[in-house]
Amino acid sequence: MQEIAANLVAVRQRIHAACLRAGRSPDTVELIAVSKTLPAEAVRVACEAGQTHFAESRLQEALPKIHALSGNLHWHFIGRVQRNKVRKLLPSFEVIHAMDSLRLATYADEIAAELGLFPKLMLQVNVADEASKGGFEPAQLRSEMDALLRLKRLDILGLMAIPPAAPDAESARHWFVRVRDLRDSLEREFGLSLPALSMGMSGDYEVAVEEGATHVRVGSAIFGQRAYQVDGEIG
Ligand SMILES: *Cc1c(COP(=O)(O)O)cnc(C)c1O
Repeated sequence: MQEIAANLVAVRQRIHAACLRAGRSPDTVELIAVSKTLPAEAVRVACEAGQTHFAESRLQEALPKIHALSGNLHWHFIGRVQRNKVRKLLPSFEVIHAMDSLRLATYADEIAAELGLFPKLMLQVNVADEASKGGFEPAQLRSEMDALLRLKRLDILGLMAIPPAAPDAESARHWFVRVRDLRDSLEREFGLSLPALSMGMSGDYEVAVEEGATHVRVGSAIFGQRAYQVDGEIG
């Protein structure tokens, strides 16, 4: 636990350095501490070290932590969105990172209207076309974008991706570039603004920042190796 504060300092410094290398302002990157599998106590320690954005990947696990830690925390949902959880997810999280189909987005729009909410979300892109991962294929995102934009309750911030596991951070770079290029071309083609790019995890967040990430999702580099894996875990 006592390492959490020191790890946070180190991760923030590395993000800062990556921003400088890329000629970006460090305040354009949000560090999200991924607290899945960890007790509320770990979140509290990170909070005391100044961390305010946290992410969880399972609703049932997240809700008790969210309730235990009232205060000015920002909770992100980064797990796969299940239809039967949408009604509880929307009011519990500030941003849903992995909206992965038009059908699910349409349903979320309906529920948001019922609940009087305007949820913020990101569209997950299956950038390497992996069967094991959710997300829109790039071509599908283009063909479904008009329909997505008609879902007036949804505040689409940008794109999210989990590139294939790679032996080193450098080999993830071309996937991050591809996600950014896709975002840029969608902005041009549809006259949109998609400012957010949620990409980069413990092994590759610096490269992701160099390539334009605005939200990095960092777990083990802050909290240490997780003791157990969660469903759908990707590495
Ligand atoms: C677990 C998880 C992370 C954090 O992974 P680390 O390698 O521990 O940083 C990031 N994004 C998603 C979607 C995750 O499920």
